[in-house]
Amino acid sequence: MAKYPTEPLKCWTKAKELRKNFYRNFDQAHEKGGIRWMGSAWALDAVTCGLGRDVYCITGEPYGASCAFNRPLSARFLTAAENYGFSRDLCSYMRNYWGSILTDEYAFGGKFPKADFAFTQHICCSHAKWYQNACELEGGVPLFAIDVGAGPYPPFAAEMYEHRVRYVAEQMLDAIDWMEEITGRKYDDELFLEGCWNDIRSTHTWAKICMLNRAVPAPLDEKSIYSLYVFGTLQKSNGEFADFYEELLEEVEDRVRRGIAAVANEQARVMTDTQPPWGFLGIYRHLETWGAVSIGSLYTFGLEGMWLYDEEEGEFLPRPMPGDKPKTREEACMMLADWHLSKPEYQHFYHPEYKTKMMDAIARHWRVDGIILHYNRGCEGLSTGIAENRLGLLERGHKVMTYEGNMGDEREFDEKAVTNRMDIFLESLGLKRPG
Ligand code: SF4
Repeated sequence: MAKYPTEPLKCWTKAKELRKNFYRNFDQAHEKGGIRWMGSAWALDAVTCGLGRDVYCITGEPYGASCAFNRPLSARFLTAAENYGFSRDLCSYMRNYWGSILTDEYAFGGKFPKADFAFTQHICCSHAKWYQNACELEGGVPLFAIDVGAGPYPPFAAEMYEHRVRYVAEQMLDAIDWMEEITGRKYDDELFLEGCWNDIRSTHTWAKICMLNRAVPAPLDEKSIYSLYVFGTLQKSNGEFADFYEELLEEVEDRVRRGIAAVANEQARVMTDTQPPWGFLGIYRHLETWGAVSIGSLYTFGLEGMWLYDEEEGEFLPRPMPGDKPKTREEACMMLADWHLSKPEYQHFYHPEYKTKMMDAIARHWRVDGIILHYNRGCEGLSTGIAENRLGLLERGHKVMTYEGNMGDEREFDEKAVTNRMDIFLESLGLKRPG
């Protein structure tokens, strides 16, 4: 029975259109005389903005997720990657991506559009190796990878040492010189400064949107959040995406004001962790049949949203935007480096306890009843330390269930077993089995 009013998001159609145009623009870039580049969703994409407004990108993780969502297509890509000799235990996004190049098949139709260069960042062991291989498969495309493994951000480090920020910023400055050389284009600092501010604007606004899910009933459910957080993963520096997030923020604020629920029968709130098995998003609808809403996760909040953890208060709050826009190339590189090094999803690479603290803060402040951890065999990066997270959350009094699966390889997900496990967990939270 409906407990709260609900209604579809008004900006849903616009979100679908923006995403479709993004992938089409990448495909058609050369027809428009533009440039294509490929790289990680975590790449400091603002750095490429100075090359011009006709520079289009594809980011590997959301592309891999789109492939995984289409299970028959993904099966072809994974098989092609394995037949080529890539090991089955590697990142499954990466294997889908490589398979897409090997079969020369674009997930959105037609042949796979080859990139002119690759620009990425490296913190997970797969990041730079992903594009090193992709560049070879695409016939020798030039690659630049920025090492962002400069250490944790406060409060997980005593302070943000300037040399750490400078280490990343100077790699960006080198990347700009490299891009000028390989593209033959003159770099436009004004466009870079604009892209840098759009990045900060979109990642800040996304965090503010996620804050609104503290409301009961939750205005957004995690399955919908996946369709919305994606813009940060596609291109944070994209002005249209930053504007869209500001529009979305207003809409979600309005939903909270009017008590509009994502799940009309919200009776319990859960949170998750890491990427979902993209070919089986029906598990979120299964939760809803029990009256459980998944309010999000450190992953959906903090992959492309910028937050700060407050150690004393145990709080997790959107990082305030810098007071002033950067005025020079050097300032923009320092600002972007400092901004991105505080990314919540970077912190757990240094110690699982940091992630446990942030997850505990989310669980308490978003009023979560139970936590569902995905032991995601497809992503060694975000699954690092996840068993320690489980123990840490249990020690802090949370109810936690785990399931094994793979975000991008359907052969490693048992839907029936997982939904059975969820049923037992939801019953233990006091929910009644749907009749
Ligand atoms: S293993 Fe995970 S963190 Fe690493 S590249 Fe793949 S998706 Fe990203």
